[in-house]
Amino acid sequence: AHLDRIGEVDGAVHAFLHVDAEGALAQAAESDARRAAGKPASALDGVPIAVKDVLATEGLPTTCGSKILEGWVPPYDATVVKRLRAAGLPILGKTNMDEFAMGSSTEHSAYGPTHNPWDLDRIPGGSGGGSAAAVAAFEAPLALGTDTGGSIRQPGAVTGTVGVKPTYGSVSRYGLVALANSLDQVGPVTRTVLDAALLHELIGGHDPLDSTSIRESVPDLTDAVRMGATGDLTGVRVGVVKELGGDSQENEGWQDGVQARFQEAVDLMVANGAEVVEVSCPTFVHALATYYLILPAEASSNLAKFDAMRYGLRVLPEGIIDPSAEDVMRATRDAGFGDEVKRRIILGTYALSSGYYDAYYGQAQKVRTLISRDFDAAFAKADVLISPTAPTTAFKLGEKLDDPIAMYLNDLATIPANLSGVPGISVPGGLAEEDGLPVGIQILAPTMADDRVYRVGAALE
Ligand code: GLN
Repeated sequence: AHLDRIGEVDGAVHAFLHVDAEGALAQAAESDARRAAGKPASALDGVPIAVKDVLATEGLPTTCGSKILEGWVPPYDATVVKRLRAAGLPILGKTNMDEFAMGSSTEHSAYGPTHNPWDLDRIPGGSGGGSAAAVAAFEAPLALGTDTGGSIRQPGAVTGTVGVKPTYGSVSRYGLVALANSLDQVGPVTRTVLDAALLHELIGGHDPLDSTSIRESVPDLTDAVRMGATGDLTGVRVGVVKELGGDSQENEGWQDGVQARFQEAVDLMVANGAEVVEVSCPTFVHALATYYLILPAEASSNLAKFDAMRYGLRVLPEGIIDPSAEDVMRATRDAGFGDEVKRRIILGTYALSSGYYDAYYGQAQKVRTLISRDFDAAFAKADVLISPTAPTTAFKLGEKLDDPIAMYLNDLATIPANLSGVPGISVPGGLAEEDGLPVGIQILAPTMADDRVYRVGAALE
């Protein structure tokens, strides 16, 4: 049924870069046999899933939305993909994304944009717009995304789906083509909070192949959802972050309809017994600047491996009879990388160059510590923090494409969590009055307290 649905709507939505109908049907048949024998491999055995094209899938193309990886077929599975296969989830295909996960609209994909199923003229968020749109358009019941600065939560918000960024280190990054190693996390994209919990429990937990993997198991998330689903939030202390859309006086650029839905969510929590306090995290206003030094620095280093020798594309330079390796590398990278990727390579290389390292990267690392301290102080007063996920609803395709700063501002509320490693969820919070488009509510919790975001998320659902 999902393959049929993809056939019907994906021409218009363009959530997928690659559909593996044959593979998915074979996996589904195996699952049918297991379940008929009363031996399902997991609670999600037989439930199909779409995978963001930044995760290595053995035998299936993996492009990261880039021309430079066109034609590359990984010889191995990412750990999370391996776990999906072992749990019996048929893999429907690979979803579209901003090139190397850089962007907030999926318009930076080298293979054309994904369209928001709510309004095809609008963006589905990014970088994981393909995964979110596939789930929102009923092309897949579940998807995997990755969140380095908001790429699961912001697409979730603008497509009316649920997106979770787990605690940094609690889900393996092995086989995830790194954007920024110290920020990246794999997580679920679903239509309900319970679905997200089931998927998260399946992909999470220690992996010896990832050196930053935490040696603790993930908390009981489905139980947290059960608790939250009663709606009762008695005794839960909820912190509204003043700097993240919590105070309309101080937060210019936040859409009225988004703030109205957010306020409604806060009121609902109070009505259900939560204690709401206002918290201030003054360093969060520097999060975007900090992120845009750390991320390009790490990304420029990661992308150096695309040297025209090891993976995918190789372009021979024109007019050079006997090109050197460097000539081939230059021609390949020139043709293979898009503008946003080149912009960040230049920024990152500059920030890391000798003489500037302390002034930029070193300074950004210090501010990063201050942001974590603001989180610590806020979590001393509140069990969870809450904000709108994104400042606006889905904007029009093309609207911010020529204005990188305007594009970056979409992640104002999601980036602090990546800088400090804490978990976060975005749950649908209703539709904005002025445009009838989905609004996302973000809930953040302390490191390894992912169960709290599920409990409160389920209560708001
Ligand atoms: N939009 C942010 C960026 O462009 C976040 C990306 C992400 O989370 N992968 O870097």
